[in-house]
Amino acid sequence: MYKKNIELKKVINNGHSIEFDFEKGDSLLYKNEVFHLKQIHFHSPSEHTVNGVRFPIEIHFVHASSNGNYTVLSVLGREGREEDTFNFFDAYVHLKPGESMVTDKKVNLKKVNPGIDSYYAYEGSLTTPPCSENVNWILFKNRLVLSSRTIKLIKENMPINNYRDTQPINNRVVHAY
Ligand SMILES: [Zn+2]
Repeated sequence: MYKKNIELKKVINNGHSIEFDFEKGDSLLYKNEVFHLKQIHFHSPSEHTVNGVRFPIEIHFVHASSNGNYTVLSVLGREGREEDTFNFFDAYVHLKPGESMVTDKKVNLKKVNPGIDSYYAYEGSLTTPPCSENVNWILFKNRLVLSSRTIKLIKENMPINNYRDTQPINNRVVHAY
């Protein structure tokens, strides 16, 4: 779904996560609104659980519209035999909290986002402050396969357990597509 290569602008360890910022990220159309890719970041373990199961890694692709609404695409990572996914990640793992690095490196997000065929969708909030309640969440059913080495690398370079606990579902409707 993403263009082959997207130019990175900055990589930052913001104290919550390692965040990859994009200046001219790809865009997507969802519910008749255009959302631009702003950044991706990681959670470990995952924030979403599927039937009670928590995954070692979750990646959030944060898109924003000009109206201040968000669409976040989420991919869960499981351990297995890795395809060559995170070759862009290794250069940035030594960033300490508060440190950032400006870069014009191009990254291929197709490899990190394994597909759009089927997903869960619901309306919710951001999981980090200000936790705004204007977010379309899309959780892909396809899993990203990561080696134990990559999972360890991501974990070691993020704050421990940087996930927000699961929230009451209230009167939300979760759609499966
Ligand atoms: Zn997140």
